[in-house]
Amino acid sequence: MSEYTPPIEDMNFIITQVFKGQGLGGLDEDMVDAILEEAGKVASGLLAPINKIGDEQGSQWTDGEVKTADGFKEAYKEYCAGGWNSVPFKEEYGGQNLPWSMAFPIQEMWQAANMSFGLCPLLNQGAAETILAHGSDEQKQEYLPNMVSGLWTGTMNLTESQAGSDLGEIKTKAVKQGDGTYLITGQKIFITFGEHDMSENIIHLVLARTQDAPTGSKGISLFIVPKFLEDKKRNDLICVSLEHKMGIHASPTCTMSFGDNGGATGYLVGEENLGLKYMFTMMNNARLSVGLQGVAIADRALQQSVSYAGDRIQGSDITTGQKTEIINHADVQRMINTMQTLVMAGRTLAYESALYLDQGKSDYVDLLTPIVKSWCTDMAQEVTSTAIQVHGGMGFIEETGVAQYARDARILPIYEGTNGIQALDLTFRKILKNDGALLFSYLDEVKDIIAENVQLQKTVEGVRHATNALVKKTPVEISAVATPYLNGLSYVMGGIAMMRRHAALQALDDGTFKTKQRESIRFYMESILPRAEAELFIFV
Ligand SMILES: Cc1cc2nc3c(=O)[nH]c(=O)nc-3n(C[C@H](O)[C@H](O)[C@H](O)COP(=O)(O)OP(=O)(O)OC[C@H]3O[C@@H](n4cnc5c(N)ncnc54)[C@H](O)[C@@H]3O)c2cc1C
Repeated sequence: MSEYTPPIEDMNFIITQVFKGQGLGGLDEDMVDAILEEAGKVASGLLAPINKIGDEQGSQWTDGEVKTADGFKEAYKEYCAGGWNSVPFKEEYGGQNLPWSMAFPIQEMWQAANMSFGLCPLLNQGAAETILAHGSDEQKQEYLPNMVSGLWTGTMNLTESQAGSDLGEIKTKAVKQGDGTYLITGQKIFITFGEHDMSENIIHLVLARTQDAPTGSKGISLFIVPKFLEDKKRNDLICVSLEHKMGIHASPTCTMSFGDNGGATGYLVGEENLGLKYMFTMMNNARLSVGLQGVAIADRALQQSVSYAGDRIQGSDITTGQKTEIINHADVQRMINTMQTLVMAGRTLAYESALYLDQGKSDYVDLLTPIVKSWCTDMAQEVTSTAIQVHGGMGFIEETGVAQYARDARILPIYEGTNGIQALDLTFRKILKNDGALLFSYLDEVKDIIAENVQLQKTVEGVRHATNALVKKTPVEISAVATPYLNGLSYVMGGIAMMRRHAALQALDDGTFKTKQRESIRFYMESILPRAEAELFIFV
């Protein structure tokens, strides 16, 4: 099944009702609906139909060139012509200046429809944001208009074979030239859309080390290294191979070699040795987007499961004895309810981080980033695996397409900082640094929402206790409990998100939407929230 139905009603409900349109900068509910509807048509009509062929064909490498799967090049052209690439960018560079609160649901649709395709704009967005934040005026004028329109795409060149989570080990070299440019030499691995045939130029953001730079992460600089230079001359860089992967086959994962013929021309961004700091602009942006990919692919798997379970007849209804569709079996309902409520909680949390981006509440963005990245991507593992279970044996057979979601989703807890690294980021940088004060102020702000549910109230107390215990531990002890702490806190944050929905439902007319939301919220509180206690048991 390749259909995808964008969950527009739920998206609209979150941004206009749950978050009361606070992040929308004046867009009203009808405009929100119209934009989501249009994006939904592109996602379901243009991108979803080429998802399976992308999986089957993958990208093909020949002599340094990469051909994307059938239909990708044409779809990308149409997507850009519709202005969709420019959604979150500033008008100054040709962008549509839509708030993140709109850009997130739109991006969710691309990722749900076709995660491989969605990775190209995802990385371009991070690269463009980094140039916007740290590039010179000249660099912004030179690169941003074409990256915003989609004529050019951007990449993120961090990883080397000896430098994955530990970017301090980067060895790629940058040698300053008399004209102020740098010659870049070295090899990067795992570079998403490092080479492809969808855009006219590829703008690589490359981390490298200048001569005499300090060792470790303090000696890394950031460079713009375009595939084609100003005079359309080919730069000295090439994709030497593509990885053969478990999933996201249509997204080319490239080994990139820089400077085989003397050195690729690179342009320094900002100051020397501050590259890692600048790159964090890109990584933070991308981390939230990866969390959103988790929500997206989980929703796609859920949709297909609901559809399959409604068609597949197997077994009899316990009460009537009549043959029945499997969706009527309580255990199948349990699986679907679990998937549904996890998607709803994850989506609310991801959009909450978009709201804080719009409001400039950077502390809360910082707090939520490792949670959205990790929890939503781990959740995607559970949901896509459960989707296979709902399909029974057919789930294990590629033909149904549901196995692709599980294979595609498996990368999400790994790239953009593994979930283990996210847990360290949360505990050391977001909690320990201020003795939990940031989290406590967040919890204080939503105390009325928490008070609406006894189980949530009890669990929040558990989180407060765990946080106070965490900050007293040694660094080694904190590293050992960082992941259960992140998980426990995430289930609680998910609970708060679900109670935000509950509060917003009161203003809605009765109907199927309201009833289903209520059921999912209750299911979360009864069946999912208790997982927090198990995760935090270690702190009792
Ligand atoms: C499909 C794909 C696409 C990618 N796209 C890009 C891209 O576009 N650009 C780019 O630069 N990179 C990209 N990457 C690389 C990706 O970001 C890295 O794979 C990731 O950061 C992990 O690094 P690693 O693979 O070296 O694993 P390692 O760092 O070796 O980690 C292995 C395990 O050890 C754990 N670990 C490592 N260090 C610590 C620590 N200090 N404390 C606790 N646990 C630790 C990790 O959590 C993990 O479980 C991509 C990778 C893949 C597979």
